[in-house]
Amino acid sequence: MEELAAIHHQLRGCTRCQAAGHPVQGPPIFSGAAGARVMVVGQAPGRVEVGETHRPFSGSAGARLFRWLQSAGWTEAEARSRFYITSITKCFPGPNRSGRGDRAPSRPEQELCAPWLEAEVALVDPAVLVPVGALAIARFFGADRKLIDLVGQRFQIEGRIVVPLPHPSGASAWTQAPANQALVRQALAQLEAVRQELNL
Ligand code: SF4
Repeated sequence: MEELAAIHHQLRGCTRCQAAGHPVQGPPIFSGAAGARVMVVGQAPGRVEVGETHRPFSGSAGARLFRWLQSAGWTEAEARSRFYITSITKCFPGPNRSGRGDRAPSRPEQELCAPWLEAEVALVDPAVLVPVGALAIARFFGADRKLIDLVGQRFQIEGRIVVPLPHPSGASAWTQAPANQALVRQALAQLEAVRQELNL
């Protein structure tokens, strides 16, 4: 508990990316406490989270994520109070040059932020991990695995149940495809089963 609080204190002051010249905007965004049995790992916070709410998943993508979780049996209030919610990089990467959605964090930014995520996973020690989006899924499964082969299933990795979800952003073409929406429903059914089995 104290160790996690110390990590949070250091994380809140992190400027590793800015010091290395990367165009990210803080403050770092995350929520939750030691003892959370479910950890959600997204890609990176957006402008709303960093600039306004300082809460993970509080923009439009977050609204869709919480609708998904509601269908697995957790209200947004329950998920926010019980889960640990973090991301691959914890600062806002800025908008995508195309104008659609946010820029994906670069590989160097991901590597600079990785030790924070490793510490969070080690200290929170969740029973269930929910990587959300391709970058978070790649962190746990490797970059060569395709979403279509992973979303809809549950896995066991290093003693934890892992249930991957796609990125809930409206800018995600993968998530909008009808065939993939069936996989999302399957993934949420997996999460609901896990919730009941582990009494989460
Ligand atoms: S993205 Fe991560 S490593 Fe980079 S400045 Fe923010 S907290 Fe630090």
